[in-house]
Amino acid sequence: MDEKPIDKQDILDELEKLHSLDHNYADGRILGSMCTEAHPFAKEVYCKFLDTNLGDPGLFKGTKQIENRVIKSIGELLSLDNAYGNIVTGGTEANLMAIRAARNHARKYKGITDGEIIIPDSAHFSFKKAADMLNLKIVEAKLDENYKIDVESVRDAISDKTVAIVAIAGTTELGLIDPIGEISKIAHENNIYFHVDAAFGGFSIPFLKRAGYDLPVFDFSLEGVCSITVDPHKMGLAPIPAGGIIFRKEEYLDVMAVDSPYLTVKTQSTIVGTRLGASSAATYAIMKYFGKEGYTKIAQNLMENTRFFSQNLKEMGYEIICEPELNIVAFNHPQMDAHALAQKLEGLGWKVSVAKCPVAIRVVLMNHIKKNHLEELLKDLKEIL
Ligand SMILES: *Cc1c(COP(=O)(O)O)cnc(C)c1O
Repeated sequence: MDEKPIDKQDILDELEKLHSLDHNYADGRILGSMCTEAHPFAKEVYCKFLDTNLGDPGLFKGTKQIENRVIKSIGELLSLDNAYGNIVTGGTEANLMAIRAARNHARKYKGITDGEIIIPDSAHFSFKKAADMLNLKIVEAKLDENYKIDVESVRDAISDKTVAIVAIAGTTELGLIDPIGEISKIAHENNIYFHVDAAFGGFSIPFLKRAGYDLPVFDFSLEGVCSITVDPHKMGLAPIPAGGIIFRKEEYLDVMAVDSPYLTVKTQSTIVGTRLGASSAATYAIMKYFGKEGYTKIAQNLMENTRFFSQNLKEMGYEIICEPELNIVAFNHPQMDAHALAQKLEGLGWKVSVAKCPVAIRVVLMNHIKKNHLEELLKDLKEIL
C-alpha cells in the first residue's frame, strides 16, 4: 500500500487502463462464457443495495424479505409453492450448499459418516470442490451415447454410503438435459437425496417449455428432487455474483445450521457469513422487470440464434456433436483437431472455449452474441474450411 493518499483521478486512470485490458461482452467475441452483460436496470438496483448484509438479517429485515421473495418466485418457476433457500454467489456455492445439506442429512438420519456422491461424467467441476471440502467420495456415473447420464449406471453406483445423486439440466459443455425423471424415481425409491444442477438451464428451460419447446421435466414436480441450483447471473441477466439454491424442505437448511452468537439471528445455514443483499435485490428487480413474458422472448431468441448457427455450420460441412437442446453448440472441423481450430479462431480475435468430453469447440449463445457476430464468425469458419 502507498504511504500517502493518492488523488482519486489518478486511481481511476490506473484502474481504467487495467480495465481496458479486459474483453468486452459488447464486442460479441466472447464465445465460451456462460455469463453475459447484466441488464442496466439490474445493475442500477445492485448499486443501491451495496451496503446490505444478509449475513445479519435482523439488521436488514427488508432486504431479507426481498431474498425470501426471490426464492419464492424461483421456487414457483420450478413447480414448488413453498421454497427454501438462498441467493448465493453462483452455481458453485449453490452446489456446495446442496451437497452439504445432503451429507449432513444422511449423517443425522442414516448415520453415514464416509459418504459418496454419484455425479455424471458431465458434471461441473464445482462438485469436485464440494466433495473435497466435505470429505466425500465421488462415484462417477457413465454417460450414454448421447452424452446424457446413463440411468443404469446410476442404479449400479448406489451403495449404502450414497448421500446424494446429482443430475444436470443444461450441462456446462453441451447444454444437455439429463433424464431427470428417471433418476428422480431411482433416488426416491432408494430414499437418497437428489440434487438437480440447473445452474445454466434454470433460467431458460421453464420459459422454453412455455413457448412450446419439447423439453423434459426437471423440477420439483418430480417427487424425488430435493434441491435445484439456478444461476440468475447466466440467462437471468442479473449482475455477478448471483446463484440460487432452492430446497424443497426447510429441514435441509436446518441440518446445516450452526450457532451464530454475535448476530441478530441465532443460527446460520449459509456457507458465507457476511453476504451481499445486492444480489437478491438485483435479481428480484430483473425478474419483475422481464416477467415470464420477457424471459420467454429472451430464451426463444437465444434458441433461434442457436438454430441459425448450428444449421449453417452443418451446411458448411462442420460436424455438430449433438442437436442443441439449449443455447450451446459444440462442433468440430472435419479434418482439423479442436485445439488447432481454437487457435486459428483465437488468432482472428475470437475468444473460444474447448469442451473436453467430447473434445470440441463450444459456443455458448448468450445475449451478447448477436446475429451479426454469428455471421462474421461463420464467415471466418468458412475461410478456415
Ligand atoms: C455455470 C455452472 C456452474 C457453476 O456456476 P458458477 O456460477 O460459475 O459458480 C455449475 N453447474 C453448471 C451446470 C453450470 O453451468
